[in-house]
Amino acid sequence: MQKTAASQPAPAPAQPSTPVDGQVLARMRTLAQHPPQSLVMEGGSAAEREAAALGWAKVVNCPQGGCGVCGLCRQIEERAYRDLIVVDKAFFDEAKQGGVSGTDAVRRLLPVWGQPAHGAGKRVTVFLEAQDLHPSVANLLLKTLEEPRPGNVFVLLAPQRERLLQTLVSRSFVLTLPWPEAKAPEADAAEWIAALLNFWDSGQGWFERTGTKGAADRSLALRILSGLSRELAHALAGQDSPVARRLARLGPLGLRRLDLVLAQAQEALTQPTAPVALVLDWMATAVIPKESKPAPRSASAPLRG
Ligand SMILES: [Zn+2]
Repeated sequence: MQKTAASQPAPAPAQPSTPVDGQVLARMRTLAQHPPQSLVMEGGSAAEREAAALGWAKVVNCPQGGCGVCGLCRQIEERAYRDLIVVDKAFFDEAKQGGVSGTDAVRRLLPVWGQPAHGAGKRVTVFLEAQDLHPSVANLLLKTLEEPRPGNVFVLLAPQRERLLQTLVSRSFVLTLPWPEAKAPEADAAEWIAALLNFWDSGQGWFERTGTKGAADRSLALRILSGLSRELAHALAGQDSPVARRLARLGPLGLRRLDLVLAQAQEALTQPTAPVALVLDWMATAVIPKESKPAPRSASAPLRG
C-alpha cells in the first residue's frame, strides 16, 4: 500500500467487506419499521460488528431497505455518507491531533444530534468498541440517549453487552450476532486456564506457578486472558464447554466481575512495566469473592485499571 504524505488528507481506509449474517439482516429489516433510538450489537468479531452497524445504517437509509449496491449504500460502505457518524479510534486520534479531548469532540456532536438527518432516512452514529469509551464519553452518551433525538439512531458495538454501562444497555435494543466459533486456546494457555480453575476450586497451585521465574511472559498472559474472554462469552451465551460450565458456576455477578477483571488485567498488561506475575495473581484473586479468598503472596495491591 502506498504511503500518503502527512500533509495530504488520508483517504478513507478500504474496508474489507465482511458479510452480514442473513438472520441478522432480516432482524434489522424488521427492526427498521420502528428503529430503536439505540441499538447495542454484541457477539461476532469486531469486523462483523462493524459490518453489521454499517448494514443497519444502510437498512434505515436505503430506499430499497439496504440493497448494498445503490449509490447511498456504497457511500455508507465507504463511510462517506453525510448522515453517518463513526466514533472510532480514528475519530479520537483526529480530535487529539486538533488539541481537542475525546469528550469535547463527542460534545461537539450534541448540536448535530439535535437536528434531524439531512436525507430522508436516519442519521446513524456508530460507537465502535463502545466498551472502551472513556467514562465521561459514556456518560455524555447516556445523557444523549435520555432525550429523544428525532431522526437520529445510535449504535453501540461491544463484544458482550456486559462490558457496557448497564444504564446504556437498558436504554438500548440488543441485537446479538452469531458468537465467534469456539477456537481452543493454544495448549500452554489452556493448561494455565485449567490451573486457574483448579485454583478457584482448591486455593492451591497458582502462586507457585506464577512465582516460578520466567514461567509466564506477557504474550502467554495475554493468550490466557483472551482464552478466558472467549470462554466467558460462551458461558454468557449458555454455550457448553468444560471451562464455560465452570465459569457459569460463578453466577451472573461473578461473570460480570470476571469480565471487568479480565479487561483491567488486559489493560495493565499493555503497560510494558507491568509485572506479569503480579497481574496474573491479581486476576486470579480478584475474581474470588472476598470471604473465600486465599491470601495472595504479594498481590494485595489492586492494579489500576
Ligand atoms: Zn441501497
